[in-house]
Amino acid sequence: MAIKKLIAEPNSSLKNKTGPWRTHKPITDRNICISCGLCAKICPENCIEMKKVKSYDKLKPVTDYDYCKGCALCVKECPVKAIRMEEDF
Ligand code: SF4
Ligand code: SF4
Repeated sequence: MAIKKLIAEPNSSLKNKTGPWRTHKPITDRNICISCGLCAKICPENCIEMKKVKSYDKLKPVTDYDYCKGCALCVKECPVKAIRMEEDF
């Protein structure tokens, strides 16, 4: 019974705002971004969404910082280095 309480329920990440864990945050340069969507697929918090953004024809990534924990996986995976980490205390 006690063990069950320690295990997170599946699909519970939207209930846990992980933004406050962050010391650095990803900043995306949408002019460099080629709209491949890899960052959105790789993000463990599922907090990057490909959306229509003003002045761009293709969908661009939009990060929900309430849930971004600053792991930088998106930075590592971006094929054109369009994302960089900045301090965010
Ligand atoms: S830093 Fe990590 S949690 Fe934040 S958007 Fe990138 S992959 Fe997602
Ligand atoms: S991985 Fe890089 S190029 Fe691909 S959508 Fe994300 S920011 Fe754009």
